[in-house]
Amino acid sequence: MQIHQALSHYFGYSSFREPQEAIIQAILHKKDTLAILPTGGGKSLCYQLPAILLPGLTIVISPLISLMKDQVDSLRAQQIPAAYLNSSLDSHNYQEILTAVHQKQVKLLYVAPERLLQPGFIALMNQVQPQLVAVDEAHCVSQWGHDFRPSYRQIRDFVQALDHRPSLSAFTATASELVRQDICQQLDLRDPLVFISSFDRPNIQLSIQEPADKFTALKDLLPSKEPCIIYCSSRKGVDQLGIALQKAGYQAACYHAGLSHQERQKAQDDFLFDRIQIMVATNAFGMGIDKSDVRLVVHYNMPKDIENYYQEIGRAGRDGLASQAVLFFASRDILTAKYFIEESQDQYAKDRLEAMIRYARHSGCLRQYLLSYFGQEAPDHCGNCSYCLGEFKVRDMTREGQMILSCLIRMKAPYGMTLLAEVLKGSQNQKIRQHHFDQLSTYGLLKDLSLTTIKHLISQVIASNYLLVNRHHGLEISPKALRLLQGKDRLAIRENLMVTSNRLRYNHTSSQDAVLYPDLYQLLKDLRLKLAQEENLPAYIIFNNASLVDMTNQLPLNDQEFQRINGVGPVKADKYGQAFLDIIQTYYQDKGLSLDQRQANLLKNQAPITHYYQNEQVPIDTDSVSIQKVVLNPMILEDYPDRMPSHFLCGQLLGQGLSVQAIAHKRHLRPEQVLQQLERCKQAGYLQELHLKLSPQVQQALKNGDSSQLDPLDLRLIQLSQ
Ligand code: ADP
Ligand code: ZN
Repeated sequence: MQIHQALSHYFGYSSFREPQEAIIQAILHKKDTLAILPTGGGKSLCYQLPAILLPGLTIVISPLISLMKDQVDSLRAQQIPAAYLNSSLDSHNYQEILTAVHQKQVKLLYVAPERLLQPGFIALMNQVQPQLVAVDEAHCVSQWGHDFRPSYRQIRDFVQALDHRPSLSAFTATASELVRQDICQQLDLRDPLVFISSFDRPNIQLSIQEPADKFTALKDLLPSKEPCIIYCSSRKGVDQLGIALQKAGYQAACYHAGLSHQERQKAQDDFLFDRIQIMVATNAFGMGIDKSDVRLVVHYNMPKDIENYYQEIGRAGRDGLASQAVLFFASRDILTAKYFIEESQDQYAKDRLEAMIRYARHSGCLRQYLLSYFGQEAPDHCGNCSYCLGEFKVRDMTREGQMILSCLIRMKAPYGMTLLAEVLKGSQNQKIRQHHFDQLSTYGLLKDLSLTTIKHLISQVIASNYLLVNRHHGLEISPKALRLLQGKDRLAIRENLMVTSNRLRYNHTSSQDAVLYPDLYQLLKDLRLKLAQEENLPAYIIFNNASLVDMTNQLPLNDQEFQRINGVGPVKADKYGQAFLDIIQTYYQDKGLSLDQRQANLLKNQAPITHYYQNEQVPIDTDSVSIQKVVLNPMILEDYPDRMPSHFLCGQLLGQGLSVQAIAHKRHLRPEQVLQQLERCKQAGYLQELHLKLSPQVQQALKNGDSSQLDPLDLRLIQLSQ
């Protein structure tokens, strides 16, 4: 069978994502490979499909039991013979699987790394001679990575112990060059082909909030009836937040390594089976859990590195639909983190944490920061993060920063943040009087600010490394401080507009918004839930949300059309097709829909469903000719005109039907500058397509196909719209 056929037959997908096909081809040609794809990028397919096509057995090494079970369930649902060996099996089941492997009844065998070197296992492998060993989460083999597991070091010994060397394929989402090289070395990959895909997950909206009260901010964010994960940094934090949410009436489960295996299993199943919507967890939760419809991932505390952070937010929106990732961040987090950095002996961990702090304070496009961390170039406006959506503005606080430093210098000892803030505020207390701090020239310099704001500023000065935190939590002037004191460095601080307002929050993080017939979508979801319960499978293993959205919008009426739905292959069509078709056909008839209507919907709906903006028609002058639709986000522009970057304003005016000349006049710019701004706007994804106000002459020229007489401005605008 050819690989495209296999893709649609076993997985129901019509095309590969970049660079799946190249990876699969390399594996089929017996090359060792290393593939670096972001979480949710589709790694599993890269080894599952070759495993199906290659003769013989494929071993998949994977660190987590939950991951194995999930994948094996999923494969079996497609009638692919898969099994796993790990500590969750009793000896009877274990033996059964070994026998099945021996009898060549298994195509994919998932194995925990610590099982590899068991003598019986190696003997069995020498009999069946696996063709391929796929190593998932391969960064676990590197002690420089963020999740080193010593048992992964056994993989190399295992492969060496085999009489016949299978080819090796390693997969990870970690992109650091150092870790990448270490993986090749530790796994002893031979002449490997390395594939690196784009790390961008454009459907995930990124934001950072610094709420005064995290819990209230969290409640504002929680979507109703949509799965979400809230990560806390400690077990205690998880327990406390879980209880608080339950008390507030939410159905939330907790997951961390301090719970028993049964408790964890139950929490995970409740979440996978949609019995509860909210999972509060430490980073122990989630690796390999392919629940594709998670709509929101909140970090209640700052994670310790970007690798973990990106992997965790990657669990949102695997179905490609609009999703949110929100990082809560408090000044305290910086203090704790810096303290850890001082204490830690591990330089790699320190560097990673510093990069995380820089992200939390970043005052530019968040996606650009993350992508460049992973070595990928990105435009400076993504259009889907809190910076690009205008949720924060940046202020120069150099003067305040200098005041903080000089105050601490005058206090002549490494005092803590609170006392420093109190002196700057001009507070009256015994300690201040005792040390005569009220006599200092810096006493009360920041009296107009609240104590909280002053502490916030101090933490930003710490974050920028002008102050160091010593092991007693005291603050010390760093060598770099001189630059700020002399004004050679500027201190830019992000002001958060989100603390009290959630006006900008998108209300379409629900997959519901992408569908044309929400009531039909609900019927299909109900059916899926019923089937899932009957088979005791998580609902998304039957079909994920993207497939249901596609069904709702495409309205397939027969088997052939049903098979064209994203995520539907012959096996699933055979098994579930009729049940879904019955509902769709009944709906179609009851609503009196026509084939024409369906066709029109399909055309209308050709834009990818992952678009985060609303497809609203912006009003335009009647004399303007609409070449295509303008798709701007109306909300941002209306709510915060004074904070909008100039190019968004130009885009907005264009959307309202103004010509380039008119915009130039209104905004006191040259037409050439307006075009440049529009170009930026387009690059940022704000102008999906353009409305153009074209004069009758231009229209005529376009109709005649003769552009020689056209104004160069008009020509460039037309080019922009294409
Ligand atoms: P990763 O292991 O890289 O985090 P997965 O392998 O779990 O990601 O894949 C993420 C999601 O993308 C899954 O729901 C998977 O079914 C889906 N997927 C993978 N490849 C494709 C494809 N070519 N077309 C459509 N969906 C795909
Ligand atoms: Zn952005």
